[in-house]
Amino acid sequence: TGTLYVVATPIGNLQDLTPRALEVLNSVNLIAAEDTRHSGRLLQHFGVQTPTTACHDHNERGKSLRLVERMLAGEDLALISDAGTPLISDPGFHLVRMAREAGVRVCPVPGACALIAGLSAAGLPSDRFAFEGFLPAKTHGRRQRIQELVAEQRTWMIYEAPHRLLECLEDLLDLLGSERQVVLARELTKTFETIKGAPLVELVQWVRADADQQRGECVLIIEGAAQSVDSDALDPAAERVLDILLTELP
Ligand code: SAM
Repeated sequence: TGTLYVVATPIGNLQDLTPRALEVLNSVNLIAAEDTRHSGRLLQHFGVQTPTTACHDHNERGKSLRLVERMLAGEDLALISDAGTPLISDPGFHLVRMAREAGVRVCPVPGACALIAGLSAAGLPSDRFAFEGFLPAKTHGRRQRIQELVAEQRTWMIYEAPHRLLECLEDLLDLLGSERQVVLARELTKTFETIKGAPLVELVQWVRADADQQRGECVLIIEGAAQSVDSDALDPAAERVLDILLTELP
């Protein structure tokens, strides 16, 4: 049986393709890519001549079956997406799941990932965090999702399309309040990389005033909610002990 390599590719800076990724892309029988034309440029840049086949959201289920059959027959495959790590807001879930179910070895080849890159430079707590992917595109759905996250105490992250960034920040400001700290990480690893952290009210003004900040790709890293007064309260058992002690005390 062959192996399925899940290979991370750069999120902007081509130097971020790892030597191991290159070796794997050169050695497999076939590369399954989200968009073969897009990945063709990357592969050409590195002189990779391995054949490619399309595996994207619209054909993933049917395609995965055929690809798993090829791996069962002994071929090695690499899965790549347009940028960064496959399966992270990118296709590949069905292929990986089917491969594992069929007993094919799945081997990650880690590398760039925008959310991890953003978090690593944001300066917000990173011991626990939550990734929320893309928020719903329509206002109602987006506000509802943000509402569900108002009390989230962990740092949380979202991906956002540039043309929705300002709208999204305005909804965050409205629902999380002006003081919540948010870091906007734009164009990571590229020429115009910008990482700006500020309370929401300032960040919204800054983005609104500068159209350049509304271009390119971005990750938002959002400070978690402060611990609520309730969670500082003693648990019921401790409360009872305290009651008893208090009645015993003079
Ligand atoms: N699989 C990718 C990864 O590992 O990060 C994410 C793919 S998702 C379809 C694309 C989104 O990732 C963009 O809309 C943006 O939110 C984020 N993104 C990708 N590259 C980025 C970069 N260089 N800087 C900031 N955000 C980026």
